[in-house]
Amino acid sequence: MLILLLSKIKLILKGLYESLEGFAEIPKSLAKFPIGLSHLKNPIDCYRIGNGEIKILFVSGVHGNEVGTVKLSYKLLNFLNKKYLDFPEITFYVIPCLNPDGFLAAKKNKDFINGGKVGRFNNKNVDLNRNFNTPSFKKESLWSFGKKYSQNIKVNCGDEGNSEPEIQAIIKFIETNNIKFIFSFHNVGADVLPGDTELSKKIGDIYKKETGYKIMLSEEWGKLKQTGTFKEWCDMRGLSFLEVETSKRWGSDWSKQKKAIEAVVGYLNSYK
Ligand SMILES: [Zn+2]
Repeated sequence: MLILLLSKIKLILKGLYESLEGFAEIPKSLAKFPIGLSHLKNPIDCYRIGNGEIKILFVSGVHGNEVGTVKLSYKLLNFLNKKYLDFPEITFYVIPCLNPDGFLAAKKNKDFINGGKVGRFNNKNVDLNRNFNTPSFKKESLWSFGKKYSQNIKVNCGDEGNSEPEIQAIIKFIETNNIKFIFSFHNVGADVLPGDTELSKKIGDIYKKETGYKIMLSEEWGKLKQTGTFKEWCDMRGLSFLEVETSKRWGSDWSKQKKAIEAVVGYLNSYK
């Protein structure tokens, strides 16, 4: 009983501490456009920086409760704006929050006592990272979390693949903009999950080196029995992909991310 109480207090203090980190202001001069609307008609905004032929997409807030990933995207926008504004080789696209309805609920409810679970799903209670139309899609699937992903909860994945407006919006955006590489930010895990392409694996190794995160191998990931995921959708199309699980729920982990993203840009810039 006492141990349970202490672990709850620890979770609350951790959440409070991480949430002290504010949201950086997004430079007003940046080009912004909505790629679509959520169920509650909140815009899903995208920013574009650079002018190159290689097109990279960074996506945060697929799970709205992962507030720290949205903070990360705001810092990323400031960083890209300073360093790569007129970059000739790469075009960077950043979607700071794919699930604005869930994100707004998470910000309002501040569910520190449960480690920040409120707001994970969209407004129809669908887990967006299980809603992609892939061979493994199921209406109900699993969400694994905790130490070594040992705890599991059943989640609703939608009536059919691509049923949700947030997923329809991102698919349309990727297909019409010839995106080469997709980074999908989540938390909490402190690991990276590369897609099946050789380039994905190379970028995963760079990310591991710069952040100290573990690589989650495909076989390990398979044991989590996730269905209808962004990764699987990218693998089906031969798109390069990296899922980055940062180490904090409410914080951005930015110093690690910055080092890794700089190294990744350097590598992609020389990769033709
Ligand atoms: Zn997530």
